[in-house]
Amino acid sequence: MSEGIDIRLEALTNPATARAPAPVLTASTAAEGISPRGTFFLETFGCQMNEHDSEKVAGVLLARGYQQVETPEAASLILYNTCSIREKAAQKVFSRLGVYRDLLGKEQRIGVLGCVAQQEGEAIFARAPWVSLVCGSASYRHLPQMLAQLEAGEQRVTGLDNDTDETFETEVTRRDNPWRAYITIIEGCDKACAYCVVPFTRGPERSRDSGRILAELRKLADAGFTEVQFLGQTVNSYLDPSPRKMRFSALLSAAAEVQGIRRVRFTTSHPRDFTSDIVEAIEAHPAICNHVHLPVQSGSTRVLRAMQRTYSRSEYLEKIAMIRGAKRPSAITTDIIVGFPGETAAEFDETLSLLDQVKYEGVFSFKYSPRPNTPAAAMPGAVPELEQSRRLALLQERQRAIQIDALRKLAGQMFEVHVDGKSKKENQWYGHSSCNRVVSFHSPATELLGQYVAVRVTGCTPNSLIGDHLQ
Ligand code: SAM
Ligand code: SF4
Repeated sequence: MSEGIDIRLEALTNPATARAPAPVLTASTAAEGISPRGTFFLETFGCQMNEHDSEKVAGVLLARGYQQVETPEAASLILYNTCSIREKAAQKVFSRLGVYRDLLGKEQRIGVLGCVAQQEGEAIFARAPWVSLVCGSASYRHLPQMLAQLEAGEQRVTGLDNDTDETFETEVTRRDNPWRAYITIIEGCDKACAYCVVPFTRGPERSRDSGRILAELRKLADAGFTEVQFLGQTVNSYLDPSPRKMRFSALLSAAAEVQGIRRVRFTTSHPRDFTSDIVEAIEAHPAICNHVHLPVQSGSTRVLRAMQRTYSRSEYLEKIAMIRGAKRPSAITTDIIVGFPGETAAEFDETLSLLDQVKYEGVFSFKYSPRPNTPAAAMPGAVPELEQSRRLALLQERQRAIQIDALRKLAGQMFEVHVDGKSKKENQWYGHSSCNRVVSFHSPATELLGQYVAVRVTGCTPNSLIGDHLQ
């Protein structure tokens, strides 16, 4: 059996130095005195929010006395935190469950968490009767009770609430990324994009109390984290439920002022709620990262309307002009869906022309995938798979040319890089700039992980900058 992950509070780094890996926080103290109940293996599919949910789920289990192990074979409880944003992701989960059916030992239990759990519900038990737990993300706060039911020998435990107004608060969160800590500030989604399952799988929007968010942030800073990322499906739709009624921009500014915090990121922003005060906060606080992820989905106003995205091409472009026109401009990245039902070749061309106009620093692009219960799944005009692939390839090719051109122009410029990795190649390191560009660089220094260093750009690859450490 592999060893459980060691998570000692006393191993936390000094925030003033920010050198050693900050500290995977921690449950051992919370679990002190509790005898181990078993071991768990947790695999995560999907987005950053899922990754962070898994950190919180791991915190709950560790606090309860479970130990985390690195292989499913070694675990008494195997958990899959799933994603159903596109069909392929959901299929992957069922094929994984199939693999484990035959390997599952008598004492082992298996649980499905996250979006597929919420979407499929109890049908999972019918399709995979060897599963014992099905729990959607809106029910994670009941995990301790559900674990108790499993421990008591119950064979079918479910958590499928969807109409909660509570958020998932945990005493302890196990932190997997030693350089960047994630904080969910808003859960669920109240938008109703015609293609999207998130409102069904993650429930309505619930924002966390700003006081609790800032308290968690101070704890992270005390533990040695210098970079934090606020998360939410529509992070900038944040509505403080506390009497302080802090605006999202004020929350960013307050976070930037927490001692020890050098970088505050946030994702994903919805264009409709992206207001000038956010740009002003970025201008006023160097610690707020100058990177905005602002998914557009399509360059055609007709398609945007069909998608129920609540803005037109020109309204979106006004937001871009506001960000680009700031005294401290930000890098802008986006998400695009190609082949939405009814998207004509001319409408797809409008998306290509939007790329030329905005010149995004990065694009995540997807073929439209019909999802259960969504209005788009019943729309006529399906774009054939082959045509979707052709459009995706064209879009990626266009974006690649735009990116290379922009990255080449950065030669000679200096970036502050938060170092988060060392390459196998000698004297080669990498990290991220404030604007979230990946920068790999040469340095003879012996230890740089977690440090902020100045790098002069000397070249690029299609997706990253190359440079030298300025010492
Ligand atoms: N809330 C974010 C927003 O509105 O931009 C993004 C949420 S989703 C996890 C991430 C991306 O997946 C979306 O921006 C969209 O481009 C893509 N996506 C969502 N549903 C999809 C679908 N049915 N087919 C293809 N791509 C999809
Ligand atoms: Fe899905 Fe739209 Fe909500 Fe984003 S804003 S999570 S795409 S419904």
